[in-house]
Amino acid sequence: MTAAPDGDDTWDVVVVGAGPAGSAAALGALAADPSLRVLLVDRADFPRDKCCGDGIAPHVLDILADVGVRDVTEGWEPLRQLEIANRHTSVAGRLARPVWVIPREVFDARLVERARSAGARVERRRVASIEERDGVVVIDETVRARVVVGADGAHSVVRRSVVGDAAGRSPAALAIRGYVPTPPDLRGLQLIRYGDRRQPAYAWCFDRGDGLANVGYGEFLPERDAGSLSRRLLLEQLERLIPGSVADGVQWRAHHLPLSGLRWTQPSGPVLLAGDAAGLVNPMTGEGIFYAVLTGVAAGRAAAGAIRQGRPASAGATYRRSVQRALAGHLRHTWLASRLTRHEGVVTAGIRASSSDRRVFDDLVEIGLGRGRITPRLATGLATQLSIARTPSGRRSRTP
Ligand SMILES: Cc1cc2nc3c(=O)[nH]c(=O)nc-3n(C[C@H](O)[C@H](O)[C@H](O)COP(=O)(O)OP(=O)(O)OC[C@H]3O[C@@H](n4cnc5c(N)ncnc54)[C@H](O)[C@@H]3O)c2cc1C
Repeated sequence: MTAAPDGDDTWDVVVVGAGPAGSAAALGALAADPSLRVLLVDRADFPRDKCCGDGIAPHVLDILADVGVRDVTEGWEPLRQLEIANRHTSVAGRLARPVWVIPREVFDARLVERARSAGARVERRRVASIEERDGVVVIDETVRARVVVGADGAHSVVRRSVVGDAAGRSPAALAIRGYVPTPPDLRGLQLIRYGDRRQPAYAWCFDRGDGLANVGYGEFLPERDAGSLSRRLLLEQLERLIPGSVADGVQWRAHHLPLSGLRWTQPSGPVLLAGDAAGLVNPMTGEGIFYAVLTGVAAGRAAAGAIRQGRPASAGATYRRSVQRALAGHLRHTWLASRLTRHEGVVTAGIRASSSDRRVFDDLVEIGLGRGRITPRLATGLATQLSIARTPSGRRSRTP
């Protein structure tokens, strides 16, 4: 039995999974009440690698700053240029706010250390079972908690224990990533190149700024075709879209991305789900760290509030309301945008619209990386480009 520090055999909060969502949950709880006894467990020792594009949106840093965490990007170069392309067109522009590309081996370990410094106990443990019993959550028959935050990623054990088989029915994508020496012409750049297979399908090359770039390719994975995407196919697509990016690659890893849908659900009760465990990855871009940190902090705060009131089981409902306030509108818009961008013509129109109007470019970035919505000017830009594409002359030539 892992006992809480003061000998009480029940922890206030146990967080399962110490990725960005889990560390953020521990930080959120301890920022709300530093006296809470918080246990953060992960099946891995940190630092550990995590298959990811390593792109850190500025919004992530805003949320971390709210819980007193700064300087997590120290030593890494901000990236300011983004290029988005498909086989018909492209747009390149300066980002309104810089992003960072930091290997998750570094970024996640930094967050775990911040959680530890804030007062969390960090332990290695692979969680296999969660059960609510007599007003307490029991983990693996040995650890007891008033509130549990499930932040154990795309194949979450905690999620399965609270929502059952529904967990397997969410839309998903599969993506592979590796590291290559940054090609000289792609230095200082985040490059996204859409392919022509099932959308969303794109390859990326994100310069880390230390001589290496994170490269990868991913695409939508229909439930009925779950086994259809081989490593070979993913690498072939990457090479096709960004020639020369595969041969010198190292540390290839592939992983699922649980894409968000039209609705998001969180059961009432003392078990909260955050990040990938909550099925929250942007269905257009595959961005998930922002949602992970946002929902992690919200889960930690909801847990702290419910414990303070002596009603740990109210945490689920409080947390659900807080995430809905923060994300419900945005999730509806990303769902719609992901449906529309299954058509290549819409992707082309979006790229052209953002090439014609800098503010549309910023709106698109905001939907892809933050909490943006389909703004009226983005909708107008899309409609204009789609109607131009339908005219007999095909398309116009206008410089960005
Ligand atoms: C190829 C690829 C590229 C991506 N690129 C980007 C990108 O550039 N930017 C971006 O924002 N997002 C990106 N994402 C999405 C992003 O990686 C995830 O959304 C993000 O990692 C979610 O964080 P998390 O903390 O919820 O889960 P994770 O980071 O997956 O952390 C979960 C943790 O739980 C632990 N765990 C799992 N099971 C157990 C268990 N049973 N017991 C104990 N511990 C357990 C794991 O060891 C892990 O440390 C990408 C994803 C993929 C696959």
